[in-house]
Amino acid sequence: DQHRVPDYLSGLNPEQREAVETLDGPVLVLAGAGTGKTRVLTTRIAHILASGRAFPSQILAVTFTNKAAREMKERVGVLVGGAVEGMPWMGTFHSIGVKLLRRHAELVGLKSSFTILDTDDVVRLIKQLIQADGIDDKRWPAKQFAQMIDGWKNKGLGPAEIPEGDARSFANGKGRELYAAYQARLMTLNACDFGDLLLHPIRMFRTNPDVLREYHDKFRYILVDEYQDTNTAQYMWLRLLAQRPKGVPQNVCCVGDDDQSIYGWRGAEVDNILRFEKDFPGAKVIKLERNYRSTEHILGAAAHLIAHNEGRLGKTLFTDRTDPNDDKVQVHAAWDSEEEARAVGEEIEQLQRNQHPLNNMAILVRASFQMREFEDRFVTLGLNYRVIGGPRFYERLEIRDALAYFRLVCQPADDLAFERIVNTPKRGLGDTTVRALHDYARKRDIPMLAATADIVETDEMKPKPRKSLFDVVTMFQRWQGLLETTPHTELAETILEESGYTDMWKNDKSAEAPGRLENLKELIRSMEQFESMRGFLEHIALVMDVEQNAELDAVSIMTLHSAKGLEFETVFLPGWEEGLFPHQRALDEGGRSGLEEERRLAYVGLTRAKRRCHIWFVSNRRIHGLWQSTLPSRFLDELPVTHVEVSEADQSYGGYNRGGYGQSRFDKQEPFANTYSTPGWKRAQANKTDATRDNWGNRSGVSIDRIGYGESGPKARTIDGE
Ligand code: ATP
Ligand code: MG
Repeated sequence: DQHRVPDYLSGLNPEQREAVETLDGPVLVLAGAGTGKTRVLTTRIAHILASGRAFPSQILAVTFTNKAAREMKERVGVLVGGAVEGMPWMGTFHSIGVKLLRRHAELVGLKSSFTILDTDDVVRLIKQLIQADGIDDKRWPAKQFAQMIDGWKNKGLGPAEIPEGDARSFANGKGRELYAAYQARLMTLNACDFGDLLLHPIRMFRTNPDVLREYHDKFRYILVDEYQDTNTAQYMWLRLLAQRPKGVPQNVCCVGDDDQSIYGWRGAEVDNILRFEKDFPGAKVIKLERNYRSTEHILGAAAHLIAHNEGRLGKTLFTDRTDPNDDKVQVHAAWDSEEEARAVGEEIEQLQRNQHPLNNMAILVRASFQMREFEDRFVTLGLNYRVIGGPRFYERLEIRDALAYFRLVCQPADDLAFERIVNTPKRGLGDTTVRALHDYARKRDIPMLAATADIVETDEMKPKPRKSLFDVVTMFQRWQGLLETTPHTELAETILEESGYTDMWKNDKSAEAPGRLENLKELIRSMEQFESMRGFLEHIALVMDVEQNAELDAVSIMTLHSAKGLEFETVFLPGWEEGLFPHQRALDEGGRSGLEEERRLAYVGLTRAKRRCHIWFVSNRRIHGLWQSTLPSRFLDELPVTHVEVSEADQSYGGYNRGGYGQSRFDKQEPFANTYSTPGWKRAQANKTDATRDNWGNRSGVSIDRIGYGESGPKARTIDGE
């Protein structure tokens, strides 16, 4: 039967089908979490292929991560029965940019063998340029300038186009000049930085209309997932490719959710959603309102929370998943992060006993230092886990460096540790010096640290490295002397300070530096539960030995940022405390936008859960090395009573309110007793007439009123001409 609906279409709802089957002309799918946006894109590709409208090589599909691209390829394969001959143009903006540039490198003045520089290379290069210009690079750090350049590139701006004010703000007005010099230097090196992977294709298309036309012909269909997190440069090249000549349909389909825009700090522009209809007149805007992922409680909690943001486009969401047996979103309290990790571990073991695979569970943290406690706990319990989107805690650069110091103090013969840190932080000890030490040690069959102690007594080394090495030896001797007498955590702190390691990161202006410092603090904290530094190092050896096997059934641990687009049966959201989530940096900014981005992150976190969602907050957390009694996150106050339950089982420490939260047990004298009785919680409890709650309190489905429509400022625009 010719008119039979193909299998891959029959499972879709009418709006989804419309989005899949509207193949001619621009389409924007704007819809909340779990409504099937990604599924629509995948099915659309399958449909294009199955209906013979294009070959795989004529489809350009942009995903947010390369992993997502691989998964999408697989699924398309399943939908069309494995007949896909590969999809060469499916990947992230950056990976597609590389591919374009390799083909046309000469058009932007590169050779196709160009190299891609990482952040370290970039900073080194900029530093050379700054110094060559006689500018004080202490005053005008290269790292800072590298970030400025990256920011400009994300906005699609070359040296000639950056705003005068920006140009003036660096190195006494030399910003533009330096930027241009940097670009010129990259050309001589036949190299690109990350931003160039976006900028060069834009430039290439603009200056070579014939090439652009070639790609207009080639890419019959363009699809973009997670559209809300595109930055300006990405949008520009998307528009260049998608705005095909008059008369040829502009077959571009973008899917996104303004409530899930969480990369503003990296230059993403949620306004690109609003520009779409302007730049692609006649675009069909499709809304998906049915959520297929989560239970009513999870969806209700998430919807209520995000309603606290202003300037939203506004959406309706409902679900049919209304099983009276579904758990509400659980909120738990713990004394500190150790107890938090222990309790989460118990919950996971319980689920495991009830035949729930670990693969279906995830722990989503706000800051990566939070992972350490869970990793430690899981190792102790023998629970498999994997860290997604980054190294495991003890494998991070700064942790490995610190551990190398500790190892060398405990085991002076550990040459690997020695080589790792002898010139970290920089002590002017280059490869030649290290090689000389190595040879000296080998000849005498002694460890390198011992060799160093010997060599500084001779005149084999030039005065400068000799002095540095002398300092290194003296430091280690001192620390070894303290090993038996000083508490090990104190010693650890001393080591990191006296070695200059902590200062190295304090002076580092990169975006990662604060996180690295947090991780170092967390490392020291993790030592507290051990008797000695040696005991601690033995534990680390065990942790490092745990397999990271993709086949293994394992709990996933990741940051909220890397959880975008994913889903799990059970989601744990630890650390919902003021200062951690919302993060202190967002609070310090003061404005609304930082806080709203944090709230969107909370929304992303909640909506990853299909069936069970557990939120945790602790009364005490060590932040920036200090124990602090913490307040529950304001986001907890913003959850609706109807869909959230405060766990009564948290009786693990005394003096604790057993009668449910919100009762008048508020006692300022009693430390941490206010945990459940914060005014905010009371407000949530008492606020029975809360308008938003009424909107979906008694229905089988959940619907949110259209918030922000035509009311609050320029962003509150309608998306369908209302
Ligand atoms: P996010 O905003 O989190 O990226 P999304 O809108 O991309 O979410 P998907 O991941 O595509 O949503 O879909 C969420 C879940 O719902 C998936 O498990 C998907 O398979 C399922 N789903 C989507 N549409 C349907 C449908 N018509 N019938 C059954 N299940 C569906
Ligand atoms: Mg998705």
